[in-house]
Amino acid sequence: MSEVIREKPVHAPMDQFRSEAGELMVGGIPLHRLADRIGQTPFYAYDRELLTRRVAELRAALPPGIKIHYAMKANPMPSVVDHMARLVDGIDVASGRELKVALDSGANPHEISFAGPGKRHEELRQAAAAGILINIESFREVSELAAIRQATGWPVRVAVRVNPDFELKSSGMKMGGGPKQFGVDAEQVPELLAQIGEAGLAFEGFHLFAGSQNLRPEAIVEAQRKCFDLALRLAESAPSPVKFLNLGGGFGIPYFPGEQRLDLSSISANLAVIAAEAKEKLPNAEIVIELGRYLVGEAGIYVCKILDRKVSRGHTFLVADGGLHHHLSASGNFGQVIRKNYPVAIGDRIGTPAGEVVSVVGPLCTPLDILADRMPLAEAHPGNLVVIFQSGAYGASASPQAFLDQPRVVEVLV
Ligand SMILES: *Cc1c(COP(=O)(O)O)cnc(C)c1O
Repeated sequence: MSEVIREKPVHAPMDQFRSEAGELMVGGIPLHRLADRIGQTPFYAYDRELLTRRVAELRAALPPGIKIHYAMKANPMPSVVDHMARLVDGIDVASGRELKVALDSGANPHEISFAGPGKRHEELRQAAAAGILINIESFREVSELAAIRQATGWPVRVAVRVNPDFELKSSGMKMGGGPKQFGVDAEQVPELLAQIGEAGLAFEGFHLFAGSQNLRPEAIVEAQRKCFDLALRLAESAPSPVKFLNLGGGFGIPYFPGEQRLDLSSISANLAVIAAEAKEKLPNAEIVIELGRYLVGEAGIYVCKILDRKVSRGHTFLVADGGLHHHLSASGNFGQVIRKNYPVAIGDRIGTPAGEVVSVVGPLCTPLDILADRMPLAEAHPGNLVVIFQSGAYGASASPQAFLDQPRVVEVLV
């Protein structure tokens, strides 16, 4: 009987970064030299040129007229937000402090929106003072904003974040459908809209966000279609015409073996149909998609240095100076059910064939501190640099840096 030979799934090629003489280049700088320039490992490096190129390619792929917003919680580093603000049509913030960074970046307040399930009174007042669009997520927010409007006389611009009555299929993280803390259930929205009208808030539209990290175009197409249809239905109860319709995003990037880059063609075709229909049925509405990781995730790497090389009962461990405290998602502890390896390479031995199967671990006293688990890599020793690709989103800001009080990570935009 012949054995069925199955190719092991591999990572999508990380060809967005060039290498020279075996060394990965970031913004034209070889990795070791960049480490010297920064003065330490570990660090995150984001490549300006890759960010610019990603937005340009996305714009070229999408039908004209679709606005692109950057959901800055994916990477809130101020220099990254400054850079993105010049490329995209708007910034989505999720806290009063993110709002400060977005305003500092020079983004037009008219094109900043604020979502999140627990906005504090001070944050709502900050948002109203800034004149940004507030995505309302509860009845309490309506009454708080009504009080702010009464006390100040400022116009208060609002949209309603809707918890749809369906889910985004095959998303890494579901953020709509069923009972959720996000938004207001579609069936409660007509009542909420009535209250917004009575409170004299400036209603501008709807925000629907079904989920995140989706690599299946047909699921995204279906969700955007359903979101649009739902918005059309809800618009009938709105106190004024819809000017703003945020259909979410959820575009994923390939992290794990077997995953491919998202094919935008059907998503784009679908958005073109939606945009044409919107012209007729919601003639005043601008259609927005909001993306975080898709815009920034592939443009960033995390770099740490090997401190030690140990063999334990036949298995080789490379112990690095960075780990889960800087990069929780790569350690597998940020939303993964089964731990899988991010794309990892020895950043100063690019092109050297994988000569051994090793685990890369961090310096923390916990078995959770794993950066690569039994992965084929080029042979490496203390002093070599480990690179984790796909690290431009949900990296430093999404990691517990105070845990075990190791040195903090540095972030640079190159
Ligand atoms: C987190 C979030 C995003 C960004 O999600 P990505 O997967 O990074 O694209 C967009 N919109 C809302 C409302 C979010 O909460």
